[in-house]
Amino acid sequence: CGIIGILGDHQAAPIMVDALKRLEYRGYDSAGIATVSEGVLDRRRAVGKLVNLADLLVTDPLPGFAGIGHTRWATHGVPSVPNAHPHRAGRVAVVHNGIIENFRTLREEAGGPWESETDTEAVVRLCEKFLDQGMSPRDAAFATIDRLEGAYALCFLFEGEGDLLVCARSGPPLAVGTGDGEMFVGSDAIALAGLTDRITYLEDGDRAVVTRAGMQIFDAQNRQINRDMRRVVIET
Ligand code: GLU
Repeated sequence: CGIIGILGDHQAAPIMVDALKRLEYRGYDSAGIATVSEGVLDRRRAVGKLVNLADLLVTDPLPGFAGIGHTRWATHGVPSVPNAHPHRAGRVAVVHNGIIENFRTLREEAGGPWESETDTEAVVRLCEKFLDQGMSPRDAAFATIDRLEGAYALCFLFEGEGDLLVCARSGPPLAVGTGDGEMFVGSDAIALAGLTDRITYLEDGDRAVVTRAGMQIFDAQNRQINRDMRRVVIET
């Protein structure tokens, strides 16, 4: 029920766990993070309180300066580690808030193997299929987003891409935060409190390509557009 994404210049895992704590007010049943470290995509997930994820990260750390994180409020599939986000298929991982209505159709199109009971897994399976066809990560993510029906805030992370997040919004809110040579994605400005106060809210249908150098935002017809950046100050 909460999303965080970071392209930073510090270890992302502890920063993401802190950000997810600020999203606790939304409620959740499980949590997880994924990072890219020296090109390698990996993830850690835990059921229950965020402290369970934090404990797991003590015994099994997850290095990397780029990452995505999620607190889940289950809609499709019980609270469990296989159903927790980030979901992954091959080179792509994703965190998702909301419901993908046409996940059964996408699931048939993308094929197996299937590792969870979630609607979200259809997103990574389809995206990985597009990567297999030779698309770039950005194009594969956009082609996937074009196929989605339902309500979603999404953030994609890719193996071999330590300076790229692709995100999209149709329904649940999503904001991009601009730092000094660092970029952030969050469900709201509260998630990004203490990281940056320069916030750009995505509007419905928007998708964004985020790198440390900045962001490009596109509308649902893939036309590049501008969205206002605001200063949002939140007491921490
Ligand atoms: N529908 C997804 C799931 O059940 C996302 C739920 C959420 O918004 O946290 O895993």
